[in-house]
Amino acid sequence: MTKTAFVTGVTGQDGSYLAELLLKKGYAVYGMIRRLSSPNTRNIAHIMDQIHLIDGDMTDQSSLITALMESKPDEIYNLAAQSFVGTSFRQPVLTADVNGLGVVRLLDAARSTVPDAKVYQASTSELFGKATEIPQSETTPFHPRSPYGVAKVFAYWACVNYRESYGMYVSNGILFNHESPRRGMEFVTRRITNGVARIHHKLAKHITLGNLDAKRDWGYAPEYVDAMWRMMQQKGPGDLVIATGETYSVRDFLRLAFAEVGIEDYEAYVKVDEKLLRPADVHTLCGNPAKAEKSLGWKAKTKVPELVKIMVEADLERVKEERHHR
Ligand code: NDP
Ligand code: GDP
Repeated sequence: MTKTAFVTGVTGQDGSYLAELLLKKGYAVYGMIRRLSSPNTRNIAHIMDQIHLIDGDMTDQSSLITALMESKPDEIYNLAAQSFVGTSFRQPVLTADVNGLGVVRLLDAARSTVPDAKVYQASTSELFGKATEIPQSETTPFHPRSPYGVAKVFAYWACVNYRESYGMYVSNGILFNHESPRRGMEFVTRRITNGVARIHHKLAKHITLGNLDAKRDWGYAPEYVDAMWRMMQQKGPGDLVIATGETYSVRDFLRLAFAEVGIEDYEAYVKVDEKLLRPADVHTLCGNPAKAEKSLGWKAKTKVPELVKIMVEADLERVKEERHHR
């Protein structure tokens, strides 16, 4: 029988890759989309005719109830969020509303309309924040360092609570950073690969960044949405770390990205602006995916050097096209 999935955040990086994956697996896919004055459907333009789009917003309880009543999903993937840590310092209330309370709204809507549906929550390595150990695993204590992280900790525990209180199938995927050519332009990987492409095509002279010493465990988004799906095929719910197990600094990423266009002395092209430093930052994230590898049979294949190549190539092509159409 055809399974039905309901995906919030379908226009985003992960939502669009997940919708592709689910379609390939034969699911009926419902994607929640919010009304914007200028539509933002670039990531799903190629599959728009294959998915059912339903209006809704994580801040509007009634829209979530209606969307679930209409779609009657077997699986709910909650990927919607104000996903940028930097913005969360400037919009803490909105971030808490969408990323924190929004999850309770969705869980409660599911409880009253489709209590047997499985729920996936997009948790994050930002839960660990000022991490007390390296690498971080499912048992590492949480110490969020931003309004984004704080809201996601609230959401994480709301999921555990709905699982324990009502016996619902609710799982937290604690995903470490994952990137792709669809990553938002404000994230550091994309700022770098877009900047390198613009410098290569002589549209810019340098890239401006903040903390170059931060270290992240960066993986490749299409592989991470596969891990989400696998989590939803398990017998019972649970919380899993999804990561590559390797960590690189922003400097490492810069060096590799510039090397793709034949520039070795990358430092000559990078400016640091103190305004891009965060009030509190997360220094080192490195995940231990052993539990997920064992229970899901999943393993990250694309590591940072390959990821950089994919992203730089895509941005070189896009910038070339844009320049051509000017
Ligand atoms: P994106 O920013 O690319 O996508 C976020 C999605 O959420 C967009 O579709 C956006 O819609 C939607 N959205 C934002 N606010 C609302 C709202 N109020 N109501 C409904 N929809 C809303 O994020 P990613 O795809 O990278 O991430 C997916 C999820 O995974 C997020 O929850 C993120 O916090 C989490 N996560 C991401 C990681 C990563 O490295 N990418 C790591 C760990 C967790 P619109 O297009 O209209 O703006
Ligand atoms: P995050 O891990 O979700 O916060 O992902 P980001 O890509 O936004 O940031 C990763 C790290 O890169 C953080 O420690 C940032 O402080 C650091 N960083 C350094 N310069 C920049 C920059 O110009 N933009 C962003 N977004 N992050 C930067």
